[in-house]
Amino acid sequence: MGKDALGGAVRPVGEIENYHAHIYFEGDTGRPAIDVLRDRIAERFSVQILGMIEKSIGLHPSPMLVVAFMPEVFDRLVPWLMLNNNGLSILVHPNTDNALGDHLDNAIWIGPPLAFRPVEDIPAEVRPATSLKALGRSHPAVTVNTSPTLA
Ligand code: ZN
Repeated sequence: MGKDALGGAVRPVGEIENYHAHIYFEGDTGRPAIDVLRDRIAERFSVQILGMIEKSIGLHPSPMLVVAFMPEVFDRLVPWLMLNNNGLSILVHPNTDNALGDHLDNAIWIGPPLAFRPVEDIPAEVRPATSLKALGRSHPAVTVNTSPTLA
């Protein structure tokens, strides 16, 4: 790992195995918007729809849909989400060895940013790790489960 003139470590993008988009919703009004957005994504992109998580877990502020995707999909999917977020808040984060940093320090928001739950309030078993390798873990590979029919 190199260091720049500021003395900080310079991380290569090769650390990024894949990405997540967490698309948050609240209550019954957010649910239709997220169903529409999920279908529109599946029609257009080769991604893994990891599914709906119906309650706030870990540091995540609200229920959400999670979409996993490979780096080669980023430059089409992320701009598309910027234009088509349906009023929803979306967190796009890289998946590296540092799962906690991936969410808190290295993510981008599309739509209104939301506040994470304080790390110290999160039970250890659902708190993202600062090193997956240290725990003998790694990110699951992306298994595409969409069949896009639209360009
Ligand atoms: Zn994630």
